[in-house]
Amino acid sequence: MGSIESILPMNIKTFSNLNRQENSHEIRNNTYDLIVIGGGITGAGILLDAASRGLKTLLIEKGDYSSGTSSKSTKLIHGGLRYLKQFDFWLVKEVGTERAIVHKLAPHLVQPEKMLLPLVEKGSYGKWLTSIGLKIYDILADVEGEDQRQMLDKKQALEKEPLLPKKILKGAGYYAEYRTDDARLTLEVIKTALRYDAVAINYTEVLEFIYKDNLVKGVKVFDHLLKEEYKIDATHIINATGPWVDDIRHLNKSLQGDTLQLTKGVHLVFPHEKLPVTQSIYFDVPDGRMIFAIPRAKVTYVGTTDTLYNKNKEEVRTEVVDAIYLIEAVNHMFPKVNLTLEDVVSSWAGLRPLIQQEGKSPSELSRKDEIFISPSDLISIAGGKLTGYRKMAERAVDKVIDRIEKHKGDLLKNCYTDTITISGGPWENYNEVLQYIQKVFKNIEPLGFTQHDAWFLVTTYGKQVEKILKIYDSINEKDIYKRLIQAEFQFCTEYEMIATPSDFFIRRTGRLFFDIQSLKDHLDTILQAYKYHFKVSDSQVEKEKSKLLNAIKNSELH
Ligand code: FAD
Repeated sequence: MGSIESILPMNIKTFSNLNRQENSHEIRNNTYDLIVIGGGITGAGILLDAASRGLKTLLIEKGDYSSGTSSKSTKLIHGGLRYLKQFDFWLVKEVGTERAIVHKLAPHLVQPEKMLLPLVEKGSYGKWLTSIGLKIYDILADVEGEDQRQMLDKKQALEKEPLLPKKILKGAGYYAEYRTDDARLTLEVIKTALRYDAVAINYTEVLEFIYKDNLVKGVKVFDHLLKEEYKIDATHIINATGPWVDDIRHLNKSLQGDTLQLTKGVHLVFPHEKLPVTQSIYFDVPDGRMIFAIPRAKVTYVGTTDTLYNKNKEEVRTEVVDAIYLIEAVNHMFPKVNLTLEDVVSSWAGLRPLIQQEGKSPSELSRKDEIFISPSDLISIAGGKLTGYRKMAERAVDKVIDRIEKHKGDLLKNCYTDTITISGGPWENYNEVLQYIQKVFKNIEPLGFTQHDAWFLVTTYGKQVEKILKIYDSINEKDIYKRLIQAEFQFCTEYEMIATPSDFFIRRTGRLFFDIQSLKDHLDTILQAYKYHFKVSDSQVEKEKSKLLNAIKNSELH
């Protein structure tokens, strides 16, 4: 296996909240070409794009990275088949093409996932429309070879998925998509930007803008960890705060013209044996919508809903009514499974930051992104999708580059993020990822670990697993799973800027969603590790414990 230092970005040692004081000192004493507000996938993409083109760039996130929408999506890097129905060919072409690019840049995080689209009596897609639709999809996104769509008859569809409803099934479309971990993708994009001397800080909230000659030239922030307010200077500022974009525009006194319409989307998680689909399925709901059922290791998750949302953005919850809607939809398509509320082991709910369009229902609102520029030159970007983050970033950074070139006549680089391997690699191709999982398995099997453990480590951390296994070697603990999770926690503390056990269990490892039992089993071990590494008081440990117990209660729905 390769050297660790070549796998971890060069100045990543500063990407730790153990170095909070030094990081904060550095930020206060610098002037940035660009400040990006918001550490979701949109802000992360902009950070990488801007830094790699030569701009001195800082990203500021008020909570943990990806704590907004970017940890609560369906976790698909997909072409958006349903946008074809809205004749949104441009969007399908862009995100369809982007899928393949993001897969190439991070194949351990963006993995191929075949999708089955069952055709049923009175369903929203007929055989002919599906066949043509999927063909157009392939053409727009340049899909080649065995990834091109196939049409299956009823028998073939049932062979692929025996749980489908035999009585009303007419056949199925079968096509290629990609599955990801949105929170890790966001984080790894930020870590990639560190290679280009970008700086990022979490738990730091923008409170106000600083103006010079009526132009935004800095921000006043509050550091939630150090409990301090300070000012940061910058030449340009991008507002990439997803569902909070209008709040920041309001702060800038520039909330005019198009505004956001937030819609809530909920996902439910079931043990795989309760919903034992053999592969991902995109299926009809009786009300005319479509939802996904996606198997992922020990669980299958289902989503999503799409309802207008005007409540508290800081506390978005899965309500029982959302859960019942999804459970009824699943029971309708898979009559043999008979799911109930009691079967839900976890869930999550997120907000889509969409652009308001009069007279359109939530599902009809366009997923296109839009850029607003205020009279004081605040650049805000909203809308869009996880899948299209790279192109959104390019468009936003182009606006900054235009301004710089106009003033200085400098020639900065054009966007080239389509060639920048995302942290966790590099990989030749997806096959190398599969071989690497086997290699890691061979290394850890003698210690008592399983194939699933090797898969989890590589699809979560990529080649950085080597650093985790080195830390594992240095820990004195008999129980191999306690020892491994301590090593993961130490890695995330030293190299991934966690500040709390919640950051670790929810966003760095996805355990709250996909392996809630392991969270329960290891909660105390991690609280001890938290106390040890962060030197926090017992009362702080208790506070974090109750935060996590609350998160478990909310996601279990009972
Ligand atoms: P966010 O991720 O919300 O990031 C904005 C950040 O700004 C937040 O972290 C917030 O804390 C921070 N912030 C706010 N105010 C401040 C402040 N004052 N100071 C500092 N920071 C601040 N797309 C896909 O491509 N594939 C999918 O499968 C998919 N599924 C989806 C399913 C659902 C249910 C939803 C809701 C969306 C889905 N999307 C999907 C869309 C995608 O998830 C979003 O478009 C994307 O995550 C938005 O990212 P963002 O960075 O713009 O916003």
